[in-house]
Amino acid sequence: MAFEGLTTRLQNVFGKLRGKGKLSEDDVNEAMREVRLALLEADVNFKVVKDFIAKVKEKAVGAEVQKSFTPGMVVVDIVHKELIELMGGTQAKLAKSNKPPTVILMAGLQGAGKTTLTGKLAKLLQSQGHKPLLIAGDIYRPAAIKQLEVLGGQIDVPVFSLGDKVSPVDIAGQGVQLAKEQGHDYVLIDTAGRLQIDEALMEEIKQIHAAVKPDEVLLVVDAMTGQEAVNVAKSFHEQLELTGVVLTKLDGDTRGGAALSVKAVTGCPIKFASTGEKIDQLEAFHPDRMASRILGMGDMLSLIEKAQTNIDAEKAKDLERKMRNAEFTFDDFLEQMEQVRKLGPLDQLLDMMPGMNKLKAAPGFKIDEKQISRTEAIVKSMTKAEKAKPDIINFSRRKRIAAGSGTNVADVNKLIRQFEDMKKMMKQFSGMMGPKGPKGGMK
Ligand code: GDP
Repeated sequence: MAFEGLTTRLQNVFGKLRGKGKLSEDDVNEAMREVRLALLEADVNFKVVKDFIAKVKEKAVGAEVQKSFTPGMVVVDIVHKELIELMGGTQAKLAKSNKPPTVILMAGLQGAGKTTLTGKLAKLLQSQGHKPLLIAGDIYRPAAIKQLEVLGGQIDVPVFSLGDKVSPVDIAGQGVQLAKEQGHDYVLIDTAGRLQIDEALMEEIKQIHAAVKPDEVLLVVDAMTGQEAVNVAKSFHEQLELTGVVLTKLDGDTRGGAALSVKAVTGCPIKFASTGEKIDQLEAFHPDRMASRILGMGDMLSLIEKAQTNIDAEKAKDLERKMRNAEFTFDDFLEQMEQVRKLGPLDQLLDMMPGMNKLKAAPGFKIDEKQISRTEAIVKSMTKAEKAKPDIINFSRRKRIAAGSGTNVADVNKLIRQFEDMKKMMKQFSGMMGPKGPKGGMK
């Protein structure tokens, strides 16, 4: 997962600082030396690191820190705030023209994830009640038009294409005209990428720019390419005024340099982060939340948002009531697992919880998505009666369930034991809480 190395290194530095009652200038210098190395190792631009350290140092040796009872914590707070600033401070929103449609032009190298992003952004806009139109302007990559059409088909968003014999400038112009006529409020233009920046590519996208006068020019860069991503952003920005950057492949093990340097180097804000190949794996980029994630403080806000959009509130309430009354069955258990899985890969969810990166780094810790599928298979192999009343699951039933789910009796035994333990805990817990909250306290 992205930033893992950086997070671990920064946590080590701050772990040492936190314990200290007083911080000497030497302590701060030593810590900053380590932060500097950690950032350089995460492939953050050299000059960006230098400025960042200078700013943090200036604040960290100040009187405020010395007056504090927990100077280490104050330093962490300073670093946190500076990281937020480095990534742009506040969230940069997508443009919205007051004369619809809002035209968004995608730019970037081949393979960066432009076409995928075009589909993802359309889905996001559609979920917010907008009516986007996609324009297939990449006529050079053989499968790009088809890819966009497939994506559009998946989400039920129309794709305007004139094949690969018409110039992209004409395609874009006609597409925008059609969007106006048909009442689309957003137009997303996919354009051609090349393996490297070349003049013909720049010239063409400049012509499209002149023809459609976009409200937003989004540069799509692959975060896995680190410093190279920043160089690409710089050259594009010099030629074509960008209004935003989208970082893709943040689910990979990128060291984070691109996310931390691109705003400082180009002045262009990061607007979105793409975290996987699936069409819903796109997030608005929040500098504050990203800074928290990098420091291993988690990102509960994003997690809660994910829960709000993906979890069925009625079902969740019902499950909660059943847990309180210890009426929880294997069916509910399955239901609960399905709800959690809707939130995304467990690995990504853990990164959003404070301190979980430490757990992940522990020896022997492994997220086993297969184990989850095995658990599901076991529960699905139970009969209705067994799910409702696990007490009746005797040895011969266990053997049948194991055979049905492609597991063994030991796996089935283990799951039933875990389920019973969980129920016992719920009983004790609901006993303590009573029907209306903790016993004896809180009015
Ligand atoms: P384009 O040439 O810029 O249009 O790039 P594509 O949209 O075709 O993407 C290139 C490859 O990267 C495809 O295999 C995508 O599935 C993949 N991809 C795009 N975005 C992401 C992402 O956020 N995470 C991962 N893991 N893969 C991505």
